[in-house]
Amino acid sequence: MTAQLRIYPSKFCDILRTKDLMKHLPEEARFCSEHGEEVIISESELLPNQNGGVPFARAAFVGCCDSAIRKLNSAIIAESLKRGVPVN
Ligand SMILES: [Zn+2]
Repeated sequence: MTAQLRIYPSKFCDILRTKDLMKHLPEEARFCSEHGEEVIISESELLPNQNGGVPFARAAFVGCCDSAIRKLNSAIIAESLKRGVPVN
């Protein structure tokens, strides 16, 4: 089973920061408690010649189920607030 949560292009510039933040989250926030699979951010291939535009066409959180993705997102928001990073 696979679930995806699309990341909107307006948030693409935050992805690197979000990935870095995810590395510091505890395993129970990153892995599904039911299926044991890790939720990751998946990006499509890089687009050529973007000149400051979005670097890739699509990005999404990918995991085994919606609840795992929701749990990770809550943890990301909580961690962002703790660090004083704006959550948009
Ligand atoms: Zn799951």
